[in-house]
Amino acid sequence: MSSRSAAKINQYFRQTIPMMVKNNVPITPPYYTLWYSYTSGDIPELSTRIDDIVQRLGQCDRYMCDVLLEEFVVDAAEDTLAQVQSSINQVVKSLHASTESAMSHADHLNQSMSADIEKLSQEAIQSNTHSAYKLVSIARRFIDKTEDYRTQLEQQNAEIQALKAKVAETEKQLFIDGLTDINNRRKFNDDIALYTASADKTCLVMVDIDHFKPFNDEYGHLLGDKIIQTVAKTLEQSCIQIPGAQAYRFGGEEFAILLPNANLKAAIQFANDVRERISRLNLKNKKTGQSIRPITTSVGVAQFQPGESLEALLERADQYLYAAKHAGRNCVRAAVA
Ligand code: GH3
Ligand code: MG
Ligand code: MG
Repeated sequence: MSSRSAAKINQYFRQTIPMMVKNNVPITPPYYTLWYSYTSGDIPELSTRIDDIVQRLGQCDRYMCDVLLEEFVVDAAEDTLAQVQSSINQVVKSLHASTESAMSHADHLNQSMSADIEKLSQEAIQSNTHSAYKLVSIARRFIDKTEDYRTQLEQQNAEIQALKAKVAETEKQLFIDGLTDINNRRKFNDDIALYTASADKTCLVMVDIDHFKPFNDEYGHLLGDKIIQTVAKTLEQSCIQIPGAQAYRFGGEEFAILLPNANLKAAIQFANDVRERISRLNLKNKKTGQSIRPITTSVGVAQFQPGESLEALLERADQYLYAAKHAGRNCVRAAVA
């Protein structure tokens, strides 16, 4: 993309964004990359797939885009995505600047024309000739036209402002999990990298729902989704009481919590509170109206040791999670010094 001229990017941008809006797709770098590839025709197979989806389903929404992203753009490097975001921001900024400047030109033109017409009409009165009056009338019509032009520019400017707000808002969605609305794995990767780069003794809590597969088998996939959503919300709410604590969906029925600068004892206490809170949830099966069996979780806790690699920390937290599973599930395990 970097080898393309700004004019080309601008042209694709103008085609890509409206298409994304029409398909209800958030304007974030990965989705933009996907739709950019569609407008530019860079990946013919992808274009065929999108056309096919739109024909069958009426639109290619973000969930379909997630599937396509996995398939076609999975290798898009983070810096490519960041570059795309910066292209979007640049193009919106330059559109905004050019409209502002066109508006100011229109204003200037109107002001100087108004003064000239005033003079012209005085002269027309004095000379009292048909051609002088005609000239004044033409000039007045011209002024009306420039006023129309200014109104159009104002409208265009408002649209660009709205687009800017939408880009800013949807940028956030890049870090939100689609099913649960909590932080996603991408946000986890970013945050944990920050914490492990500092000397803070951040604690990592890994939470995995016990025997989740049978929930799906017994109650259906939709109720399975609902369980994942409810557990996610419970984790997120539990984090509110601890300054800086953040919950993330790590993948499937597995979650992570980062507790910045927490001591291990407090983290274990927190993990146990959360585990108990989840085990007390009372979800109903809508079809039968009956409560589903209790949801339990196994939890592994590890405290970041300065100098430790990110992978090593994750591996340790995972080890304790599996220790909790082996200990019979519905419990917390941690490395106590
Ligand atoms: P364990 O106690 O050992 O963790 O057992 P488990 O059944 O929870 O673990 P396993 O890894 O065998 O199964 C996890 C299941 O979670 C398999 C997969 O179908 C299901 N799953 C993953 N993501 C989703 C999702 O988004 N929605 C639903 N409904 N199910 C999901
Ligand atoms: Mg599980
Ligand atoms: Mg699991």
